[in-house]
Formats: sequence, C-alpha cells, structure tokens
Amino acid sequence: MQIVQSIEELRAILREWRKAGLSVGLVPTMGYLHEGHKSLIVRAVSENDRVVVSDFVNPTQFGVNEDLASYPRDLRRDAALCEEAGASLVFHPEAEEMYVKDNCTFVDMDSLTKGLCGKTRPTHFRGVCTVVTKLFHIVSPDRAYFGEKDAQQLAVIRRMTRDLNFDITIVGCPIVREQDGLALSSRNTYLSSEERKAALILHKSLLLGEEMMKAGERDAATVKEAIVRNMKTEPLARIDYVEIVDAGTLENVTRIESPVLTATAVYIGSTRLIDNFSFCP
Ligand code: AMP
Repeated sequence: MQIVQSIEELRAILREWRKAGLSVGLVPTMGYLHEGHKSLIVRAVSENDRVVVSDFVNPTQFGVNEDLASYPRDLRRDAALCEEAGASLVFHPEAEEMYVKDNCTFVDMDSLTKGLCGKTRPTHFRGVCTVVTKLFHIVSPDRAYFGEKDAQQLAVIRRMTRDLNFDITIVGCPIVREQDGLALSSRNTYLSSEERKAALILHKSLLLGEEMMKAGERDAATVKEAIVRNMKTEPLARIDYVEIVDAGTLENVTRIESPVLTATAVYIGSTRLIDNFSFCP
C-alpha cells in the first residue's frame, strides 16, 4: 500500500489501473481513522479491484471558529489501518496541493444544506461539496463510500452526484458504534472521561425516539419533545438541534408517514457531536 501526496502522481497510478481494466472505489476521510472509517474501506475493498482512501483535513469545510487547527491527525496510524483493511493507496495531499493559492471556484447547493448542521455551520457543506467534487474529478471512482453517521452529508452528496451527472455510485454505510452505543467519531478524542460518559445521552435519547416510532407514535413533535426532554437530563449536554425530517428532502415533517431521518447535534462541553437514526413506518 502506498501513500501519495501529489495529484499528478495519483493520476498516473489511476491511469495504469484503468488501462488494466480495474474498478476503483474511493473512501473520502479527514483521517484519524477508526473502526467506522474501516468499515467503509472494507466494504469498498469487497466491491472494487482497487481502493483509494483520501486522508485530508479539508480547510474549506471548517468555519472560522471551528477546530481546523486542533483536528486530530496521525498519518502513520491511518496508513496502518488502511493497509490492514486492504486499501490500495492513501491519498494525503497538503492543503496547497488541493487548493491553489488563488482558487476561487466552489460547489454549493441550495435547500438540503440549509437545515440541520447547515444552520450552525453555514459554510460547511460548500466546503464538503467542493472537496468531494475535486476528489471525484481527480480519482474518477466507480463507487464512493460515505457513512450514514453523517446523514445530511450523505444526502447532499447523493443529490450533488445526481445534479452534476457524476457517473459514480454512492454507497451509504451503517453507523459503527462503541459497545455502549456512542457513534465512533474522530472528535470523540476531545472528550474527557466525564464527558465521554455524558456523550452517551445522544444515542440513549435517539433510541427512546426510535422506540416510540416503532410502538406506533406518528406525531413528530411528540417524539421530538421526548428526545429533547431526555437529552436535557444530562447536565453536560447542550442541544444544537433535534430534528425529524423527510429522508429525501431533509425538510421537517409533522407526521411520520414516510421514511424519516431523526438527527441531532449536541455539544458535550465544547465538543460538538452528531448522531441520527432512520425510520421507515
Ligand atoms: P470523517 O473523517 O469524519 O470526515 O469521515 C469520513 C467518512 O467516514 C464519512 O463518510 C463518515 O460518515 C464516515 N464515518 C465517520 N464515522 C463513522 C461511523 N461511526 N460509522 C460509519 N461511518 C462513519
């Protein structure tokens, strides 16, 4: 398995693979890889002849007061995990390689990016769409793998792929959790041991909502209130949002009568964590 930093070198390798008729899977990540990322890589390895894992902390998807500078990084460990999972190549460009100095072109999207995380992070999805578009152009994969952990991101990427006619199959992969239910995230590393315990409130509260839906509750406000009430029992938690939205449009629903996404973002101390579940009535 090789680590490649330049776009030119990556393209040369990809040309050889294409010439040999090999299929290519892409797993875009920001590094500091864990079992959640690994599940995407393993899936990609099972469905493609070659797998490229991009490992790039993308500056354009961070807001001005967010954690770009402190975002955890460990390329050596990431490379070992990729190798173990069967990836062919880690693409680890410098920011200057991905964004030339006078770069002034971005990919943006209406509607789907305005609610949920887009409310608190208004420039986030412009950065995500831009970097994923660039990766799609550089790698031209047959398939690209994204986690359901970032459900809004997955919906946005699916829409962008359709709207911009990328000939790429988008594969969504289930959320990987710790044994106690906390969704794996590179940002979990920010949590103190007390905060780590408190962080369980996300999954617990969502489970409560899911149980209500499974038991037949169809009023979205009733479920949302129950989730919020449960979240508020944890003193270290500060809710950013809890929303129940249509799984396709990400617009708020009043009744749970078609597939819905219930998504939340919660600050545990200063760490912002997200989680969600999908439900089909
Ligand atoms: P990130 O490095 O956080 O940008 O994540 C890279 C990819 O891994 C995204 O598609 C995420 O949705 C996915 N991912 C992150 N955490 C998990 C998880 N716990 N389970 C499944 N996928 C995940």
